[in-house]
Amino acid sequence: MTNRSALRAIPSVGSILDSSEMIARRGSAPRSVLVAAAREAVAAARDAVRRGGARAAAPSREAIVQDAVRRVEAGRRPSLKPVINATGVVLHTNLGRAPLAEEAARAVAEAARRYTNLEIELGTGARGSRMAHLEPLLVELLHAQAALVVNNNAAAMLLALNTLSAGKETVVSRGQLVEIGGAFRIPEILERSGAILREVGTTNKTRIRDYERAVGPRTGMLLRVHPSNFAMVGFTQETTREELVRLARRNRLPLLEDVGSGAMLDFTRWGLPAEPVAREALAEGVPLVCMSGDKLLGGPQAGIIAGRRSLVQALRANPMARALRVDKLTLAALAATIRLYRDPEAAREHLPVLRMLGEPAARVRARARRVIRAIGAERASLCGAEVVACTAEVGGGSMPLGRVPSYALALRPVKGSVEDLARALRTGPDPVLGRIESGRLLLDLRTVDPGEIPGLVTSIVRALEEKP
Ligand SMILES: *Cc1c(COP(=O)(O)O)cnc(C)c1O
Repeated sequence: MTNRSALRAIPSVGSILDSSEMIARRGSAPRSVLVAAAREAVAAARDAVRRGGARAAAPSREAIVQDAVRRVEAGRRPSLKPVINATGVVLHTNLGRAPLAEEAARAVAEAARRYTNLEIELGTGARGSRMAHLEPLLVELLHAQAALVVNNNAAAMLLALNTLSAGKETVVSRGQLVEIGGAFRIPEILERSGAILREVGTTNKTRIRDYERAVGPRTGMLLRVHPSNFAMVGFTQETTREELVRLARRNRLPLLEDVGSGAMLDFTRWGLPAEPVAREALAEGVPLVCMSGDKLLGGPQAGIIAGRRSLVQALRANPMARALRVDKLTLAALAATIRLYRDPEAAREHLPVLRMLGEPAARVRARARRVIRAIGAERASLCGAEVVACTAEVGGGSMPLGRVPSYALALRPVKGSVEDLARALRTGPDPVLGRIESGRLLLDLRTVDPGEIPGLVTSIVRALEEKP
C-alpha cells in the first residue's frame, strides 16, 4: 500500500527549481544540470514514499531542495580523484596500481599541454615513429635488439600470439594457464588471438618431454608465463627457461616469456621473493619477453615487448599494433620512468613503488606514531588508537608470497561500527582506504607517502567526529 496523499504532497520539479538555493546556482551550472538534479531529487522522494508503505510521510520541500543541491555539487566534482592508500597493498589494481615518479608526472603534464614531436624527426622534418622516443631507452635497459610498447601486458600477449601463432598451436604448460585478475585468462586471450591452445603436462608437473612431444608442423610458438599471482608448493615441477630456449632453437620456433610485473631489480635484497627479470630472460636466450608497465616497474599502464629484432618487427607490422598503440601521455610517463633506471640508486629513491617496498619498517613505524601524535592524545585514547605491527603486500598480482613487515594505525570507532568508520574515511573530501582486521580499522602507513600525512590526519579527525 502506497500512501497516495504523501505522494501528492511531494513538490513539483518546477517548485524545486524555483527555490532560492537552486536559483543561486543558475550562474554556475547549466539549466539542464539543474533540471536533471531537481528531477532526480523528486524521483528519489517518490521512491522513498513508495518504499515506506501506507504510513510513509513525504520528505519536506527543504529536504528535496537540499538533495537537488547536493546532486548539482556532486556533478561538479570529478569522479576520478586521488585517494590515500592505507591498505598496505603497494600495487592495488583498484587504486590504479603504481603511482608515478614526480619526473614521470611532470613529463605527462608537459606532453599533455602542448604539441610534441611525437611522430616527427626534427632533424629532417620527415615523419618519424612514436617508438623512437622509447625504444632506445628500452633497448639500453633490457639489452634487447628491439622493443615495442602497447596498451598493457594483455595487449602485448594478444599482439604476440596473433602475429606469431594465429591458426597455429601455441604450446604452454597446464600449470601456467592462469587467470590474472579482472577476467584476464591466458587460455581466453590465446583463443581470441586466433592461436590454438596446446596444453602440455599437468597442473603440478610439466617436463621438457611434454613440450617435445607436442611440437610439430602445426606449432606456431612456445609460451612461458610467470604465474605471478599464485604459488605452487609440494610435488611440483616446471620446465626450466634453459630447456625451453634450447627446444625453441632446435625447432626454429619463437618463444615468448610473459615475465609479468616488469621487475628490473633484484627484490630479494629486501627479503622479497625473486621475480623474473626481463633482462635476464633475454640474456639467457629467450627471444621475446613481455611485461606490464605499471606493476613493479613503477610506470604507467603499458605493455612492453622486447627481444629479437625480426620478431619485434613482425609484431610492429601487424595492423593490430595500431589498435593497441599507446598515446603520447603514456609514452612520456614510461620514457621518464625508464630513464630513472639508468641509475638504479635514483630509481630506488624516485620511484614510489620501489621507495615503498624498500623503506625500513622503523621509518614506517615513526610515521604511524607521527599520525597518532597529530590526532591528539585525547582523541587517540577515545578511539583506542595504537600503532600495531602488520604485514603489507606487494599486490597487483605480483609476489603472492611476498610479505613486507609494516606498521599500521589501529582504530576502533567511538560510536557506530568499524564499517561506518571505514565508510566515513572513504567518503570524506580526502578519501582514505584502510582494511578491517579483527574488529579494528588498520591504516597501514607503508603505502602512505609522508606528503599525505596532513591530509590523512584531517580525514581521521573528521571521520571520528562524524555522527554515524
Ligand atoms: C599482470 C599480468 C598480466 C596482465 O597485465 P596487464 O598489464 O594488467 O594487462 C599478464 N601476465 C602476467 C604474468 C601478469 O602478472
